[in-house]
Amino acid sequence: MKVFKFGGASLESVERIRQVAQIVQSFPDEKLLIVISAMAKTTNELEKVAQNYFQRKREIAAQLLYNVEQQHVNVAEALLGGREHPLFLQLQQFFTEAEWTLGEKPIRTYDYYYDQLVGLGELLSTAIVSAYFNTVGLNNTWLDVRDIFRTDDNFRDANIDWAYTQKQVTEKVVPLFKINNIVITQGFIGSTDQNESVTLGREGSDYSAAVFANMLDAESQTIWKDVEGLKNADPKLFPNTVNIPEISYGEVIEMAYYGAQVIHPKTIKPLQNKQIPLLVKCFLNKDLPGTVIKEEADVKQLPPIIVLKKNQVLLNITSKDYSFITEDKISDIYEIFHALKVKINLMQNGAINFSCCIDNNPEKIELLIKTLHQSFKIVYNEGLELLTVRYYQTGLLEELSNGHTILLEQRSPATIQRLWKK
Ligand code: ASP
Ligand code: MG
Repeated sequence: MKVFKFGGASLESVERIRQVAQIVQSFPDEKLLIVISAMAKTTNELEKVAQNYFQRKREIAAQLLYNVEQQHVNVAEALLGGREHPLFLQLQQFFTEAEWTLGEKPIRTYDYYYDQLVGLGELLSTAIVSAYFNTVGLNNTWLDVRDIFRTDDNFRDANIDWAYTQKQVTEKVVPLFKINNIVITQGFIGSTDQNESVTLGREGSDYSAAVFANMLDAESQTIWKDVEGLKNADPKLFPNTVNIPEISYGEVIEMAYYGAQVIHPKTIKPLQNKQIPLLVKCFLNKDLPGTVIKEEADVKQLPPIIVLKKNQVLLNITSKDYSFITEDKISDIYEIFHALKVKINLMQNGAINFSCCIDNNPEKIELLIKTLHQSFKIVYNEGLELLTVRYYQTGLLEELSNGHTILLEQRSPATIQRLWKK
C-alpha cells in the first residue's frame, strides 16, 4: 500500500487533473490511498466566504460561494463531458449545506464557522477527481474523511484522537481496498465527536496523508508537487537553488521549524515513528528522481540550506523595576506566549531583558503587549526578516546579509540565524 498526496497546484486546471490521472495509471495493481487538497486557490476563496459571513456581510459571502460553485461545476463538466453524472447532485448537496451555514446567525466563534465553511474545498475536489477517475478506468472509492479522522474541537488547528482514528482506519478504511484498489479522500479536515467539521491547519493535507500512512502501515508516502523535489532554498526568493536527492527526517523537521514552506511541519513525526519514507516527486515529470526523506541520509552531501521568514517582529521585554529576568520570570513570559499560541522563532535573554522574534500577527501582538505590559516595558520593531542557514559557509552568509542591519544573531556549529532589517 502506498499513500499519495496531490495538492492544489496539481488540480489547478482540467489538464492538470488529467495529468494526475495519468500518474495514477502508471501504478497499476497498486493499492493506493490518495489524499487530495482543495483545487488551486479555493481555500483562500473560502476563507473570504467565512470572513464575510462572520462580519455579517452575508450577500458578499453568498456571491463568493457562488463563484466557487461555478468554478467547480465548470471543471467537473469539462472532465465528465456534460452534467448528467450523479456527481453534480453530490456537489449541489455540499453547496446547500454551506448555504445553510450562511443562513445562520453567527453565535459561535469565528474559528468554528471557518471550519464549517473552508473544508468544503476538499469535499468538492475529491468528489470531482473520484468521479473523473471512475470514468477513465481508475476504479476508486470516495471516502468522507470526517467519518474517519476524529479530533478535538480546537477549531482551525484540531488535534487527532489517535486511538479512535486508528480504530476507524482499521475497521472502515482497510476493508475498502477489497472493493477497489484506490481510495480517494480529503486532506486537511476531520470531525469532532459532535460531528462538527474541523480543519487541521493551513496546508494540513501533507499531515493527513502521513496520518493515513502511519495507520495503514504504508510502504511509502509520496507528495506530488509542481517542483522537482525539495530544494535547498525557496526558488521564488533565491537564485541558483539545487535539488536535494535525499535528506533525513530530522533535517526536514528542522527546515520546517525554521519556516521553510516545504512540507507541513507535523508530517514527519507519523512517518518517522513507523520508518515510512516520504518521497517528494514532480507531477509535471514523474521520471525526475525527486527527494527521498528517511531516517538516515548523508549530511556531507547536503548543500547549505537557506530559509527566510518574512514579516517578523522583534519584541524587547524589559523589567520595569530593574529586577533580573531569571528562570521564574522567563517561565511567566513563556506561559503568556503559550496561552496566546504565539510561537517564538528566536530568543535571547540578558540581565533585565528578554528579546524574541515572532511572526507578525497584529491582533496577537496587541494582546501580548497588553498582558506583558503590567510587569514589563515593551519595545517592538516590525518589518524584519529572519534568515536561517544550516551548514553555512562564510562567503555565502555575507553575500546574503549584504546591506541589511542585523538586530539579533545566534549561531551553533551547524546553524546560524540572523534577524535583520532590510
Ligand atoms: N487546502 C488546504 C490549504 O490550502 C490544505 C492543503 O492544501 O494542504 O491550506
Ligand atoms: Mg493547498
